[in-house]
Amino acid sequence: MGRGLFRFFINVLLFACFMAFGIAHDIRIGRIPVAPEWNPWTPLDLSLRETRIQNWKINRARNDPVQCRAALSQVAHASALPDYTPSEKCSIKGGVILAGLGAARLDPLKTRCALAMDLYLWEQNSVRPAAREILGADLRRIEHFGSYSCRKIAGSRRWSKHARAEAIDIAGFRLANGRHITLLRGWNGKSDERKFLRQIRDGACQHFGGVLSPDYNAAHADHFHFDFSRWGFCK
Ligand SMILES: [Zn+2]
Repeated sequence: MGRGLFRFFINVLLFACFMAFGIAHDIRIGRIPVAPEWNPWTPLDLSLRETRIQNWKINRARNDPVQCRAALSQVAHASALPDYTPSEKCSIKGGVILAGLGAARLDPLKTRCALAMDLYLWEQNSVRPAAREILGADLRRIEHFGSYSCRKIAGSRRWSKHARAEAIDIAGFRLANGRHITLLRGWNGKSDERKFLRQIRDGACQHFGGVLSPDYNAAHADHFHFDFSRWGFCK
């Protein structure tokens, strides 16, 4: 290897070390900040945009209730729920009591922290922007039919994802201008409500493994069902 090439590699190595150190200590280069969504050492901040590093942190928090609750409590009304295991098939582990996401309120809901985190990401990335863009108003309230329910899937012998609080049913929305949108009336209702509900259903498919809407079957005419399935089901 020639001397020039050797020095070039040493410089690249020093620069890489400098960048890594700078990112780790939130150092600015001149006036350019090292974006925190690219910083693997800072705690997860759910309000940041999604990058590879941010998605890696989200996935890590999904399996770690302590990290998940710490991140969620910064952006949502969420408090820790002690593990609840009434039977072999039914439990809420790594749970939270969720009463709000960003500026939107909801009736206090017991669910798994990882699901609440997905719900927050959906609310921020899909519901809130769609409400502004299509309906011209801010989202104030999310209405739901709950998450945990110790039961089997209706008409089946298989246990529901609700039995482990790995699913949630969303029924409607209230906006800052007083407008109330429900799945039951809106899915085939006014054109702007139809557009809004379909857009946020499609948005949910970016955050949840399983998404069922009124398009799926009559049992879902009045709610969206979101869950942790791995099959990437979206209808
Ligand atoms: Zn459901």
